Amino acid sequence: MTEPKIKAIRGTRDLLPPETALWNFVEAAVRDVFRVYNFQEIRTPIFESTELFARGVGEETDIVAKEMYTWVDRGRAESDKGQSLTLRPENTAGVVRAYIEHKLWERGLNKLYYIGPQFRRERPQKGRYRQFYQIGAEMIGPATAGSESPARDAEILELLATLLDRLGIKGWTLQLNSIGCADDRAKYNEALRQALDPVKDKMCEDCQRRAATNPLRVFDCKVPEDQPIIEKLPRISQYLDEPCRQHFAAVKDILKSVGVAFQENDRLVRGLDYYTRTAFEFTHGALGAQNAILGGGRYDGLSESLGGPPAPGIGFAIGEDRLVLALQESAGAVQSKPDVYIAPLGHGMDAHAAQLARALRHHDIVVELGDENFRMKKSLETGSKLGARFALIVGENEIRSGLFALKNLETGEQISVPRAELAAKIIQKP
Ligand code: AMP
Repeated sequence: MTEPKIKAIRGTRDLLPPETALWNFVEAAVRDVFRVYNFQEIRTPIFESTELFARGVGEETDIVAKEMYTWVDRGRAESDKGQSLTLRPENTAGVVRAYIEHKLWERGLNKLYYIGPQFRRERPQKGRYRQFYQIGAEMIGPATAGSESPARDAEILELLATLLDRLGIKGWTLQLNSIGCADDRAKYNEALRQALDPVKDKMCEDCQRRAATNPLRVFDCKVPEDQPIIEKLPRISQYLDEPCRQHFAAVKDILKSVGVAFQENDRLVRGLDYYTRTAFEFTHGALGAQNAILGGGRYDGLSESLGGPPAPGIGFAIGEDRLVLALQESAGAVQSKPDVYIAPLGHGMDAHAAQLARALRHHDIVVELGDENFRMKKSLETGSKLGARFALIVGENEIRSGLFALKNLETGEQISVPRAELAAKIIQKP
């Protein structure tokens, strides 16, 4: 066959079975963990007004400056100028918009999670896609509901450690930092600007721009030649005020007492403007260059910058694509195979086979249903190819006698089983 003309867009991909079984396994485990931490699901729209991300993520971030899928939505009327819309590049801004729009502060502390696609126009490579999936959570509410407490930061981090362990992800590292409050950041930014001034001309174009507009973002730089310069820059840890220092110390104390290991990393400043205090990433060695499985942090000023009331919050986003990659490194794919292949033999047998399939599926047995036009040999071959444990033959003799030929496709052994005992025989472990 010639190459198909219409293909999935670069940076997007089809998730096919059997890989989708692994995605389902991850999502089921994640939902289960969220349930015991008393988080509930939120689903926000996939596109929002561009302004939400410009304000909520920050104009100066790479995401907003170069990676968003944005278009002007034409109205129906000629005179309608149209609104600028954007496919969501992340989900926190959408959740906080919903918090403000639905006055969720009336519920006290909100513990919300989401699972869904996000979109960024990045250079596609292994572990980096233009449509990718995030599993995330946000704890947000009025300060009176305890949303500012370091106990919430520690709870989120402990949840993540539990989740990765539950999924069987081995060898993760928690990188932890505090990036202080807005005042600390202002002082620090000034110090960075001064430190960058004499050296910025030797740095990449992006860093030259960052040095002028938002020096903190220099730490996002991946250009190898710039790293020695970045290594020598002052660190945020020297600029934290006393309340921020104490908050950070309390988070670390709780983590130690629950036994969650972490590494302090004062270069970790995260890509988004709205973070305050706790910032973190979990990394995994098997992922290579794109080694961050997840990232998150506190965003105490975000609600206000979107026009809402003060609402401290903390959250994270796991890259589900990378989580699945890390799992594939450590385990094989989870494959779902039918328990039984039902082989109707001859005219009129499809109906009988359908009846049997219906009855067996009620017993939670995974059934693949054949076709009366297949000959016996083709049916058995099809069942074996699918990896079915048994083939159940449904022919005129079987219907007349009520005794069915059940063939074990692994051993080749065939037994005769009364209709009423079929489910029990198929469920029985070898
Ligand atoms: P961020 O919202 O940038 O903090 O990203 C959170 C997590 O989402 C990262 O740690 C990655 O695991 C994942 N992620 C971000 N961008 C991409 C991408 N383009 N492709 C795949 N995963 C991504």
